[in-house]
Amino acid sequence: MQYIKLNTNESPYPPSPGVLKAVQEEAGLLQLYSDPTCKVLSEKLSALYGVSPSQVIMTNGSDEALYFAFMAFADEERPLRFADITYGFYSVFADLLGIPYTAIPLKKDFSIDPTDYYSQDGRGQTVVIANPNAPTGICLSLAQIEDILLHNRGNVVIIDEAYVDFGGESAVSLIDRYENLLVTQTFSKSRSMAGARLGFAIGNEDLISDLHTLRYSTNPYNVNRMTSAAGIAALAENEYYMGNCKKIMETRELVKCRLESMGFFVIPSKTNFLFISHPCIDGSSLYLRLKEKGVLVRHFDEERIRQYNRVTIGTPKQMETFLETTKKIMEGTP
Ligand code: PMP
Repeated sequence: MQYIKLNTNESPYPPSPGVLKAVQEEAGLLQLYSDPTCKVLSEKLSALYGVSPSQVIMTNGSDEALYFAFMAFADEERPLRFADITYGFYSVFADLLGIPYTAIPLKKDFSIDPTDYYSQDGRGQTVVIANPNAPTGICLSLAQIEDILLHNRGNVVIIDEAYVDFGGESAVSLIDRYENLLVTQTFSKSRSMAGARLGFAIGNEDLISDLHTLRYSTNPYNVNRMTSAAGIAALAENEYYMGNCKKIMETRELVKCRLESMGFFVIPSKTNFLFISHPCIDGSSLYLRLKEKGVLVRHFDEERIRQYNRVTIGTPKQMETFLETTKKIMEGTP
């Protein structure tokens, strides 16, 4: 069966023509190692984000940036603090690295209370917040992020902005004012490059320099030649990607309305996915019924969110199929 894949938050839109061309051209040079400093890509990226190249590190997906950051900035004296419902890799990385952590319950409405992340009596900790959060899609404001930074003066605060291009406010604008801030982002979602593995972190020079030290000691060629070339080309065609984000946001709002008219509860989202539940069908049944009918969404078998499914926003055509299939399931028609 040809599934409609709405389960891993990939972009439904292909890479831009310049990216395809750059990858093809670079393939002819694969006998040579990639540039371990990622010079051109870091320069182009820092220019676009209004920071200096020394405030940027390019990584193999943003997962690698997060992993390096946990390794560099968290330990027994600086345990991790993140939400109970958030990106699953935070606890996986923490467990792998032997870093203690506290999972802070989200509020009843699944939002984050910034005061939960204040350092108690100035004690050491490392805060990690996905903003917007996954799988909820809920976003903190820049003022709330600043509040957390101010109450963690001696601690690193990592803001994971994997989904920020779909309507969130980026904390990159705060980098020069808060030396404890590290922002991670990815080319996987808004720039259609999940398969190329390209992410980055932006922060003050000292934080970034620590991450480079770890990178040089583990995998100096972490960004391969084709990915680097693809990244440079993608930045040159940024308008195409931001246009896709706009389309995805428009589709998201239309799908949200249609789901609500079917009786679904839909959390307002600033991402390329919706987190939905319905009082008349449990989360895993909807997931399984959709799968039977060729539509893959993501169900989490976890206590607080068992009733929900996370649905990636695809093309309008894919979403029409998803909505029609869901309608049939809800109406009990075959
Ligand atoms: N953070 C969040 C919140 C994510 O959902 C993901 C993607 N699954 C990532 C980081 C990592 O993405 P990537 O390694 O593809 O950049």
